[in-house]
Amino acid sequence: MQHLPVSLKLAGCRCLVVGGGIVAERKIELLLRAGADVRIVAARLTNRLVEQAADGAVTVAGGRFRPALLAGCRLVVAATDDGPLNRRVAAAADAAGVFCNVVDDNTLSTFILPAIVDRGPVTVAISTGGRAPVLAQRLKSQFETLLPARLGQLAERAGRWRELVKKRFATLGERRRFWQAFFDGPIAEHLLAGRDARAERAMRESLIDRPAPPAAGVAWLVGAGPGDAGLLTLRGLQLLSRADVVLYDRLVSPAVLDMARKDALRLSVGKRAGERRMTQERINALLIEHVRRGERVCRLKGGDPFVFGRGGEEALALAAAGLPFEIVPGISAAPGCAAYAGIPLTLRGESSSVTFASASLEQGREPDWAVLARPGQTLALYMSIGRLEATARRLIDHGLAATTPAALVADGTTAAQRVLRAPLAEIAARAAAAGFGAPAILFTGPAVAVSPALEWFRPGDGVSDAGFAVAPPTARTAEATMPSRRSRPLTASPASRTRTASR
Ligand code: SAH
Repeated sequence: MQHLPVSLKLAGCRCLVVGGGIVAERKIELLLRAGADVRIVAARLTNRLVEQAADGAVTVAGGRFRPALLAGCRLVVAATDDGPLNRRVAAAADAAGVFCNVVDDNTLSTFILPAIVDRGPVTVAISTGGRAPVLAQRLKSQFETLLPARLGQLAERAGRWRELVKKRFATLGERRRFWQAFFDGPIAEHLLAGRDARAERAMRESLIDRPAPPAAGVAWLVGAGPGDAGLLTLRGLQLLSRADVVLYDRLVSPAVLDMARKDALRLSVGKRAGERRMTQERINALLIEHVRRGERVCRLKGGDPFVFGRGGEEALALAAAGLPFEIVPGISAAPGCAAYAGIPLTLRGESSSVTFASASLEQGREPDWAVLARPGQTLALYMSIGRLEATARRLIDHGLAATTPAALVADGTTAAQRVLRAPLAEIAARAAAAGFGAPAILFTGPAVAVSPALEWFRPGDGVSDAGFAVAPPTARTAEATMPSRRSRPLTASPASRTRTASR
């Protein structure tokens, strides 16, 4: 961070603006909105500035800049098109220890003015560090449409009630919970809709007439998706950002975890290779313990909580303890990785069903290979990387063609995603040679064959730091590479359908 965003209290503070043109006029407008005592140095003024000077809204301190004019100033803005003059102002400001903004000159400036969304007293400042003002303006318009028009009134009212709430609730935790419920609840809704009297009544009821409810703990079992933070659901994000405690798995991506409240307690309950696993019983006990304390616990699980995530066991433990919970589905690894690797899970005429299964042996028991080896379906095998060779062999032994198209997707949906395509009989050797590791998911079936034509995701260039897709997928002419249904080359011999590794 090259600039620290701060909110300055400028009411009554002297600020000097050098320049009297249209650019200076805009900066002066901002300073006046903050209540600054604006002095102008300029040989010529715009009509509006002349009027403002006549009204006493600003003071003209002369036509020529002298360093002495900086005395008593908090800020100075150099808004002239005279380069040497701007530099002189910046140097004098530096010597006097006054922060200086030189319009359009990031190097000379010791402060910059961000783009501002003003819902006073709520302000959002957007800065690109002076690098891309047009981008800052675009973001500003996005915020303008996103933020409710009466957000300022909401904050204003909350500010007025703050002391009352402080008296009503003794601890910081209780107050925070009150305010969280307040901003999520009907009182805030009334205020945003302009129903101030109803808001006032509801606030009175909740603070004075009704006894404070005991802190109610709750567990939220939230699916974090397979990796790309943009795949977290809106509900998941809302709950994650409210939780007091976050219990998360190893597979949860750091970008998702970043969306938790900064002061939330974060507990990793996943295992890393070589480390001892926290037992499921211990995780259940931790969940129950925190919920019983009245905390809001977000149990963040990779993918979907109910797909090989033992979310069922955790929910059962909560239910048995009589504690409230909510389950928020997530995008499981199979649909997530399939989408990002261009593998349709079903494809008309080719694959009429999809099976999610685990390749690992549950309590030493083999999966029902005969069912998994049925043709005409897509098979998504979780936890397969450790037993790839044996898995492929079993599927082939149970009737699947050795040439069945297969794809292994590792670190799917993330910037590290790798996809390996090979006939089923070859996939294990190829994966070993290419150094594929966990987490990875194996897909087999005829629909896998079309995936090279649907490869839209290029790891690293479509996902931002925060994990949100910032660029639309590069439009590839799918028609050109994908056979039309009528020509039906997909139903040709399985060997001709199998594409080999493309990465
Ligand atoms: N509840 C999770 C699955 C947990 S089991 C879900 O719904 O996705 C863990 C297995 O999920 C891994 O062994 C791997 O097979 C798969 N997996 C999870 N994230 C993955 C990713 N980003 N890329 C590939 N496979 C992934």
